Amino acid sequence: MSTVRFENINKFYGDIQVLNNINLDVEDGEFLVLVGPSGCGKSTTLRMVAGLEDPTDGQLFIGDKVVNEIEPSKRDIAMVFQNYALYPHMSVFENMSFGLKIRKLDSAEITKRVKEAADILQIDDLLLRRPKELSGGQRQRVALGRCIVRNPKVFLFDEPLSNLDAKLRAEMRVEIKKLHQILKTTMMYVTHDQTEAMTMGSRIAVINKGVIEQLDTPDRIYRHPVNKFVAGFIGSPQMNFIEGNVSSSDGILHFASGKIDLDLSGHNFNTIPSKVILGIRPENISLKTSENKSSNNIIKAVVDLIEPLGAVSLLHLNSDGIRFSASIKSIENIIEGIEAEFIFDGSSFHFFDAASQKYLD
Ligand code: ADP
Ligand code: MG
Repeated sequence: MSTVRFENINKFYGDIQVLNNINLDVEDGEFLVLVGPSGCGKSTTLRMVAGLEDPTDGQLFIGDKVVNEIEPSKRDIAMVFQNYALYPHMSVFENMSFGLKIRKLDSAEITKRVKEAADILQIDDLLLRRPKELSGGQRQRVALGRCIVRNPKVFLFDEPLSNLDAKLRAEMRVEIKKLHQILKTTMMYVTHDQTEAMTMGSRIAVINKGVIEQLDTPDRIYRHPVNKFVAGFIGSPQMNFIEGNVSSSDGILHFASGKIDLDLSGHNFNTIPSKVILGIRPENISLKTSENKSSNNIIKAVVDLIEPLGAVSLLHLNSDGIRFSASIKSIENIIEGIEAEFIFDGSSFHFFDAASQKYLD
């Protein structure tokens, strides 16, 4: 087990900067997720830990040792990729033991370690098969097993589940989390999928264009995104954003955008910028019913489209050209094309400065 520490790390490919002043402390035994859109620099960050890329400047520590100059094979790191990279002509046992053989461990020790890993991953009965005789999920397990037997200081995962179908992905998510509970090894996990990030990470680093926008627990990132990018990236279905103005009338703050006028009682701002973006998640908008008549912040909108998601339906709504969506549990009398009234939960508003996109406290 080990900590990993990025200190003022920059990475350029030629003139193009792909990582910008990365500072990151991965704690001993932590499960840290790096999440962000394609091309934001996640793989580059991870590959630096493995020694497959060099930082242009800055220092990288594994434990208390600077590893900038240390070869990949000497770093005691194991990496799992999206394409499992198993040797097709070798059995599962041979695939798992190959790295240990190269290190010249004695064969009793190798067998012991492979059996232990196979036991944890429940692939004991597959040890004699070739990769082509395995399903995608089983292959992914073998790839994990090959890492486990090495007993590395840090596990690195680069989108390991992207090739699997949705059901298997959900299963493997749980498996990898369980594996972390058992092994308690430091793990860094790269994904572009916010669900994987939310469900797996003890902390999440949200990366955008080579910059870590926010590093925090899933819950904190969901509740207190530092800017509009993070707010829009984390959470599914996505947060709604409505641009408008905040002003005071009769001593009460209001948010106005087109015909939408919301009462902001209970909200305080240090400063109010000229243009503000209101953020509200679809789950914080409800359908007005006869029971909650007295609520304020009621918005009339036309139901453009209904997406049934099982437990809830996602309603795509249009209020005089302002579009937003709401997740609604029970939509009995709602059909596409009708107008209905929706309640915006004032305790769930987020505000961003339209110019800087930063969260407004
Ligand atoms: P991610 O994993 O988040 O999708 P990467 O870390 O792979 O992103 O890439 C970050 C950026 O660096 C991308 O714009 C990519 O095109 C660029 N890049 C990655 N590897 C190289 C390379 N070897 N040479 C030049 N540009 C690269
Ligand atoms: Mg990548």
